[in-house]
Amino acid sequence: MAGPRPVVLSGPSGAGKSTLLKRLLKDFEGVFGFSVSHTTRSPRPGEVNGKDYHFVTREEMQRGIDGGDFIEHAVFSGNMYGTSKWAVQAVQAQNQICILDIDMQGVKNIKKTDLNPIYISIHPPSVPILEKRLRDRNTESVESLQKRLQAAISDIEISKEPGLFDEIIVNDDLEEAYSKLQEVLQQEISAVQSSKDS
Ligand code: ADP
Ligand code: 5GP
Repeated sequence: MAGPRPVVLSGPSGAGKSTLLKRLLKDFEGVFGFSVSHTTRSPRPGEVNGKDYHFVTREEMQRGIDGGDFIEHAVFSGNMYGTSKWAVQAVQAQNQICILDIDMQGVKNIKKTDLNPIYISIHPPSVPILEKRLRDRNTESVESLQKRLQAAISDIEISKEPGLFDEIIVNDDLEEAYSKLQEVLQQEISAVQSSKDS
């Protein structure tokens, strides 16, 4: 479907993807729309079904996958996650920039599609700082935290592969990372804003 280029935000769990994308959605109302993924993990306190994720059972998710509803899907830290065709189409139908928050497997699978997004990886300043942020977020069991850190170490290495990401943003100071993100997306933001004005 024609329209603004989608944006993939990837990077280790705890790097700050949700924090950054929620700010974009709030500051640029009507410009960005979030691709609401499906997941089999349990909601965290404050997460809203249909807004943060579509929280589903493994059976429901598998039925959707078998029925061809998903552009991509992956298992991360023992849970299933996936982007439905409908999640992306719903945003594109509004002529908004669709933001996908997906893991490294998702990035590799999206590369095989014709979605043609801008690929951005959000990195923590270091693995110990990532671990502290994840602990302080207080959302993960000891086991889940360990799995996320393992995935983080390998994903940080993989993301340096030339050509995999258009931009790697280190989220050390939040304001600086957010400014950088806006700068990277400025051309797309302006295009959507001017198309809405006309
Ligand atoms: P992700 O969506 O990548 O898993 P979050 O956005 O949930 O990560 O961020 C992980 C935690 O780190 C959250 O508690 C968030 O408030 C915090 N955080 C995000 N960015 C920063 C930053 N620049 N400095 C300090 N803490 C941060
Ligand atoms: P969390 O459980 O912290 O919300 O997400 C865990 C990981 O799953 C993160 O790296 C996040 O980017 C990724 N993720 C969320 N939704 C999807 C999705 O639809 N597809 C894929 N491949 N990964 C996803």
